[in-house]
Amino acid sequence: MIVCGERSLVEAELLAGGLSCPSCRGVLGPWGHARERVLRGLVGDRLLRPRRGRCRACLGTHVLLSHVALSRRQDEVAVIGTAIEASVAGEGYRRIAARLGAYADTVRGWLRRFVERADQIRAHFTWCAVVLDPELGPVLPAGSGVADALEAIAVAARAWVLRFGPGDPWRIASVLSGGVLLATRASAYSWAT
Ligand SMILES: [Zn+2]
Repeated sequence: MIVCGERSLVEAELLAGGLSCPSCRGVLGPWGHARERVLRGLVGDRLLRPRRGRCRACLGTHVLLSHVALSRRQDEVAVIGTAIEASVAGEGYRRIAARLGAYADTVRGWLRRFVERADQIRAHFTWCAVVLDPELGPVLPAGSGVADALEAIAVAARAWVLRFGPGDPWRIASVLSGGVLLATRASAYSWAT
């Protein structure tokens, strides 16, 4: 079911011309599927055939759902999301780390990256929300850069659920970000610039 949702979303983005080429920032169009791969989920493994896109400008092809995001990091995105939510709510990174059983430095790294990328994340997820729900009203300021980014993610996830059915908000966020929600390289954020 989640696979279905992801596929619908990717199709919607492909058809809307909303995905940009990581190489040249041209527009990606549909281009078959990548080979099947195993996804490690909370309730066991399953197979997925990610969609592929082809850049209309440079003709390069790209797997749209990154292996890293959907296998190794899939279980983690909910954990990272929980840490971000707790931080925006005012909890310190050491306490968050202790509660989640993660290293403090690791949690601090996630949070720092979220702060650094807050504007791009807010802009991207606001755009996603509008694509998913064209009748969406204005997204109101939540009080700070990180709170606005978190709110934009929540609004986009709700729009996604309204359109495609129930799903975990952070998993949706991962898919909507192309799996690079907290990427270390700025170039991974080509969709947001
Ligand atoms: Zn290209």
